[in-house]
Amino acid sequence: MSIDKVTRWIRPSVLATSAYHVQNAAGLVKLDAMENPYTWPAEIKQSWLNCLADAEINRYPSADATVLKESLRTAFTIPADMELLLGNGSDEIIQIIMLAMAGQNTVFMAPTPTFVMYEVIAAATQARFVGIPLQRDFTLDTAALLRAIRDYQPAAIFLAYPNNPTGNLFDTRAIIDIIEHAPGIVVVDEAYHVFAESSFLDRLAHYDNLLIMRTMSKFGLAGLRLGFLAGPADWLREFDKIRLPYNINILTQLSTTFILDHIDLLNEQAAAIRHDREILCQALAAIPGIAVWPSATNFLLFRIEQGGGDRLFNGLKQAGVLIKNLHGSHPLLADCLRVTIGTPEQNQLFLEALTHISHHLT
Ligand SMILES: *Cc1c(COP(=O)(O)O)cnc(C)c1O
Repeated sequence: MSIDKVTRWIRPSVLATSAYHVQNAAGLVKLDAMENPYTWPAEIKQSWLNCLADAEINRYPSADATVLKESLRTAFTIPADMELLLGNGSDEIIQIIMLAMAGQNTVFMAPTPTFVMYEVIAAATQARFVGIPLQRDFTLDTAALLRAIRDYQPAAIFLAYPNNPTGNLFDTRAIIDIIEHAPGIVVVDEAYHVFAESSFLDRLAHYDNLLIMRTMSKFGLAGLRLGFLAGPADWLREFDKIRLPYNINILTQLSTTFILDHIDLLNEQAAAIRHDREILCQALAAIPGIAVWPSATNFLLFRIEQGGGDRLFNGLKQAGVLIKNLHGSHPLLADCLRVTIGTPEQNQLFLEALTHISHHLT
């Protein structure tokens, strides 16, 4: 294999980037990826398996996932006059939007730090990504954003609501200002809506450039890969042309429809996670040398003083607990780490290891 051939034909921008790194979690308490730590009671699992037994996996799945869309509409009370687009995870929806819009000189914009895939996918489409730094307290710098909107004329602005990795909900008025000044679309990414209990869904009708994106991943179905976009038909009709046929496989269609019929179970799990988040937040705040931010998600962002971020991350890993190290990813996140809310037992293991290690670091 001649590497020259590879470097000749793969785009320089691709050669220069590295693949999205997923940490190896084997044997570790996995609190790095905002997964729901709970599974389902045995009887629900059994009826799910019964429902999958008849899946015609020799056939292509429903191309427009009609049944699943109806379940989603009911479960999340999507306004009847809004269209739905499904993706293999909301990551794929971001990709569809960007592929449909990217051309020469297209700009995509987001406040940063935020969900990294906006920038990663923008780069893959050869569009320009412009990140506007949040203020030190992670609120939107509205003046800077409005200036940048005027100067760069972004095709799409992505607002994670609440934001990952900072965990906060941006100010409603600021978001409305952005929607009203945006020349293109504003995608409000509500990946954590069940933990935030706050949404822009009801505002869809007021703006012709607002789209709401959600995912089943953080709600309990990360393994299935299902995200959706709700918004005006005029936009979604165009995005749908870029979507690959059959992008939602039959097991995902059947399983998601099944569990949406038992949505109380997922809602109870989300309520338990929200409750445990507050307990863990208070416990973290009580540890000397640790500062923790309030969260509207299923994770907590915290900082260790005196440049201990990397050592704390590695110490936790050695103690068998995997979280996310954000140190070095953005100037505002120096010595910051992100922990996903797990079961009470997992949270306790994390807390004990953290208390022990931070005691030696600070
Ligand atoms: C996790 C996450 C996503 C991606 O979710 P998938 O549906 O699993 O692709 C999108 N946006 C934000 C802000 C996230 O944190």
